[in-house]
Amino acid sequence: MADVANRYPQNVAGLFYVDDQCIDCDLCRETAPANFTREDDGGHTYVLKQPETPELGLIIRSTTQKKMPRIAKQIFAKTDKK
Ligand code: SF4
Repeated sequence: MADVANRYPQNVAGLFYVDDQCIDCDLCRETAPANFTREDDGGHTYVLKQPETPELGLIIRSTTQKKMPRIAKQIFAKTDKK
């Protein structure tokens, strides 16, 4: 499960974040390129822009249908409880 204690410092402030368990699979960057980007030196993703509500719904639906890796589902699950 994603852990805020291991959150990458490059993430913008907000509810979404990527932690050190990112496996650099590229799925979130393909799904929401305006919100996620790659930190090339570290080889991982970070949140570039926090998603807004309609966009977030689209991301969750899209990633669920693609059966995204468990770690990413846990990242998105944190905002699904609103
Ligand atoms: S979907 Fe998860 S594991 Fe894949 S690049 Fe994005 S944050 Fe990393």
